[in-house]
Amino acid sequence: MRIFDPHIHMTSRTTDDYRAMAAAGIRAVVEPAFWLGQPRTNPGSFADYFDSLVGWEPYRAGQFGIRHHATIALNPKEANDPRCRPVLDLLPRYLDKDGVVAVGEIGYDSMTPEEDEAFAVQLALAVEYELPALVHTPHRDKARGTERTLAVVAESGIEPGRVVVDHLNEVTVKIVQDSGCWMGFSIYPETKMSPPRMVEILRAHGLDRMLVNSAADWGHSDPLLTRATGEAMLAAGFTDDDVDKVLWRNPVEFYGQSGRLDLSDLGPAADTFEGSSIKRGGS
Ligand SMILES: [Zn+2]
Repeated sequence: MRIFDPHIHMTSRTTDDYRAMAAAGIRAVVEPAFWLGQPRTNPGSFADYFDSLVGWEPYRAGQFGIRHHATIALNPKEANDPRCRPVLDLLPRYLDKDGVVAVGEIGYDSMTPEEDEAFAVQLALAVEYELPALVHTPHRDKARGTERTLAVVAESGIEPGRVVVDHLNEVTVKIVQDSGCWMGFSIYPETKMSPPRMVEILRAHGLDRMLVNSAADWGHSDPLLTRATGEAMLAAGFTDDDVDKVLWRNPVEFYGQSGRLDLSDLGPAADTFEGSSIKRGGS
């Protein structure tokens, strides 16, 4: 099983995670810029973080044979802090970089006017830089947040096929499917979305434009839940090819729209959890 995790916050994870991910078949990841938990108080903190996402973290991932790309944005939560607003002016410098395959995460946290503005500005940047956009939906009031998200996306003029609306569930999947946007699902250990629920969604809505991620960040999360979802698909009667479409070909197609996805020289896929393609012993 070859796996591309299209949304995972590796900055928050350990080398043990990288090792386990490689053994589970995860060969490529996209790490979106997000909220780090501790509020940042100035744009310089973001510049260092963005530099890490396009420099240090790809190096770290490479130690385990995993290809790392990033998405760059001012996240919705910190868009509310006036001290962080100048980050919008930093973005063009990063959106030009090779390893950046989308603008994200953008969208809504609490649906404030400040978030409205940052969202619209960054969708315009995605159009200008010819990049896809990764859109986060709020964990509270998700249905209304998703409706408003789709309205702003439509208004921006970005092609829906270049947008993934993420953190969906059974309630929000249908309107996103009807919009023509890609559908993102973050699988969590206990809350929000589980592998069995994900399998039911795939059964009901098909495999096209579906992206499954582990989101794994600094909270309680599990970077192997993409693999667990693949196993749950197989157990439910989906074929190896179905799993390959959802966990590999779909993310390649979505982020490939950036023209910057580099999956060359990845070597043979690890077939099992015991896959031997992991570089052991550190650097
Ligand atoms: Zn995220």
